[in-house]
Amino acid sequence: MEFLRPATWDEALAAKAENPTALPISGGTDVMVELNFDVHRPSAILDLNRVTELTEWSHDGDVVRLGASVPYSRIIDELSGPLPGLALAAHTVGSPQIRNRGSVGGNLGAASPAGDSHPALLAAGRDVYVEAASVRGTRLIAIDDFYTGVKRNSLEPDELIRAVRIPAADGPQQFSKIGTRNAMVIAVCAFGFALHPKDGTVGTGIGSAAPTPRRAVEAEEYLRGVLAERGLWQSGGLLGAEVVQRFGELVRGAASPIDDVRGTAAYRRHALAVMARRTLTWTWNDYSKQIRSAA
Ligand SMILES: Cc1cc2nc3c(=O)[nH]c(=O)nc-3n(C[C@H](O)[C@H](O)[C@H](O)COP(=O)(O)OP(=O)(O)OC[C@H]3O[C@@H](n4cnc5c(N)ncnc54)[C@H](O)[C@@H]3O)c2cc1C
Repeated sequence: MEFLRPATWDEALAAKAENPTALPISGGTDVMVELNFDVHRPSAILDLNRVTELTEWSHDGDVVRLGASVPYSRIIDELSGPLPGLALAAHTVGSPQIRNRGSVGGNLGAASPAGDSHPALLAAGRDVYVEAASVRGTRLIAIDDFYTGVKRNSLEPDELIRAVRIPAADGPQQFSKIGTRNAMVIAVCAFGFALHPKDGTVGTGIGSAAPTPRRAVEAEEYLRGVLAERGLWQSGGLLGAEVVQRFGELVRGAASPIDDVRGTAAYRRHALAVMARRTLTWTWNDYSKQIRSAA
């Protein structure tokens, strides 16, 4: 097996163009497990650890550009203000060791339906983009178009993920995950939720309950309508139990889970409705407090 170690981003893109089957490695927390279990035997490994740009983030206007290899521990320490949903999701990943190595770029590269960053990225809004680059240039892939199947994504063979562009939060965000224990656990199912008061929308993300991460479109539309019709963005008034209940039902309906070793489809549907109701209640309480304290 060849081991490629580019020192710069341009060298990395050139190496990927020359060796499209080379397997990129960032934190290695997925790649090394799969190599050790002989899941893959790639012709070459493309080590991205010397490419410093991948470990940097910047905040340009209202958008955070998160380098593909920024580890979860730094997202928690440095970005919980602008990216609260993603930081909460990062908290639930593996253990301190995994959070020190694992990255959102790696989570996207693996594209597991159970990856924890996906529900948070989907909930962060429609303007989340994966920056995919090759020697041919850079293209922005909308997060809704990125996941194409179980552990499959829309990257071309010569492309690498440079960064993810995520709008900074303009309202409260939440992330909720169910596992068979508190830490070091793959999600039985997960849910991300965000309020976007600036444009009067809400964002959702369902994890581990469909072949790909996905949003609950009907639930988003329902809540957007209720909040607008009742003037709730302005008043911060009570949502009402029937709204919370209906939102949970619509999230449950958006999932298409399977029975597997981690849980049954029925349990996942039930759990998603519960997580949807809880995250909506928590975020709305926070939003109401903000409105009241500003009045
Ligand atoms: C003990 C343990 C616990 C875990 N717990 C969780 C958990 O709770 N939640 C969770 O979501 N995940 C978990 N994982 C999985 C893993 O940690 C995450 O998926 C992590 O985000 C992977 O990031 P990485 O940088 O280590 O990726 P790597 O292992 O380096 O790469 C993962 C995939 O992405 C590709 N890739 C990496 N960088 C790029 C790039 N720049 N461009 C294109 N492709 C790229 C690789 O080729 C590979 O296919 C766990 C893993 C272990 C071993």
